[in-house]
Amino acid sequence: MKYKALYGTHDLLPEDSFKWQNLEEKVRKTISLYNYKEIRTPIFEETDLFARSIGQDTDIVQKEMYTFLDQGKRSLTLRPEGTAGVVRAYLEHSLGEKSPLVKLFYFGPMFRQERPQKGRLRQFHQFGVEAIGSLEPSLDAEVIDLSVKICYALGITDFKLHLNSIGCPVCRPIHRDKFLNFMKDKVGELCEDCKTRFLRNPLRMFDCKKEGCIEQLKDAPVMIDFLCEECKNHYILVKQYLDALKIDYFEDKTLVRGLDYYTKTAFELKSKLLGTQDTLCGGGRYDLLVEELGGKNTPAIGFAAGIERFVLVLKMEEKLDLEEKNLDLFIATLGDEARTLAMKLIKDLREKNIICETDYLNRSLKAQMKEANRQKAKKVLIIGEDEIKKGKAILKDMDSGEQKEIELEKIRGAF
Ligand code: ATP
Ligand code: MG
Repeated sequence: MKYKALYGTHDLLPEDSFKWQNLEEKVRKTISLYNYKEIRTPIFEETDLFARSIGQDTDIVQKEMYTFLDQGKRSLTLRPEGTAGVVRAYLEHSLGEKSPLVKLFYFGPMFRQERPQKGRLRQFHQFGVEAIGSLEPSLDAEVIDLSVKICYALGITDFKLHLNSIGCPVCRPIHRDKFLNFMKDKVGELCEDCKTRFLRNPLRMFDCKKEGCIEQLKDAPVMIDFLCEECKNHYILVKQYLDALKIDYFEDKTLVRGLDYYTKTAFELKSKLLGTQDTLCGGGRYDLLVEELGGKNTPAIGFAAGIERFVLVLKMEEKLDLEEKNLDLFIATLGDEARTLAMKLIKDLREKNIICETDYLNRSLKAQMKEANRQKAKKVLIIGEDEIKKGKAILKDMDSGEQKEIELEKIRGAF
């Protein structure tokens, strides 16, 4: 074969696309209940937007972005995540001036040049929400509640909510000092990535999945023990709201987010069914980002969820919706006159939202019946030369096998 889809990219074929449509429909419906409105931002942006908002020292910016020069020699990047573009649009269109709290959601493809493996692609798809404009812990609880609610709406039961606070610029440096001090003798034992993280972005070592690094980090000081008064109170309130909403959570002291702009609340929904890449959805506060991108100091919180991983879990839990929209009617024809009649009928019936199909390959009646069967048509209408002469056609119910004659005049009314 001459051409193939690129490594780490997938075609979504018709046999699966309806499952995605069903999933997306349920997610959209749930998100709308929480009064988030959809935003669609471009798939590529200036490289600097991502470098600034995700952080120079992150894995994404260091090694995962698809960056290229356009004809005008500007550096552009295929979006590796959704938040940067949403906040850029929020600022560009002054959405904050129209409403003090802006609740947005998005769906779409994201691009990261990572090593493809189970649950990890180079073009993957996310949906996410962003609530921009409030520091209220009740908003954290709403966003977390929404992520959990989406899992339930889809029928996923095998997941666990991990919760942590990663502090703010007031308390984080104090922890950082203690942490670096604790780790300084252990650096030699760490993987290459973590050696770099130690210099650039130490907290991110907690993200490492390698056994050796996890072992070295076992007794390392964790952020939660160093929270300032404000962060501590915020965290307590978030937990109180979650308790009030009866949402179970696991306080995961080693949970950190991969992106620089996160502050305070961090959370992830994880599923054991996924193996190493076990995070379905990750989110948290990013109180510093709007200002970082040139806006006023504006607290915000959101999450992003990986659709492919939801699909994997749903497949494993055997909960993937199998309800395909099948053909309502296949019209089998014999002869040109019958075909013309079929074309006119189909046009009318489609006006009535009936899914119809006919034969465009000049097949025998037998082959047309076989095709109708293959496409799981609910009914077949057979129009042959004899039938036209009599002004009638045969309507066959494919479930019961029952056949009856129907007057051509009455066909439109029969559906
Ligand atoms: P991971 O733990 O897999 O490295 P991450 O911290 O890079 O995730 P985020 O940037 O928070 O992930 O993205 C949110 C979600 O998007 C993830 O929880 C995951 O479900 C999904 N996701 C991220 N990267 C990929 C990828 N390369 N392929 C498929 N899904 C992905
Ligand atoms: Mg990643």
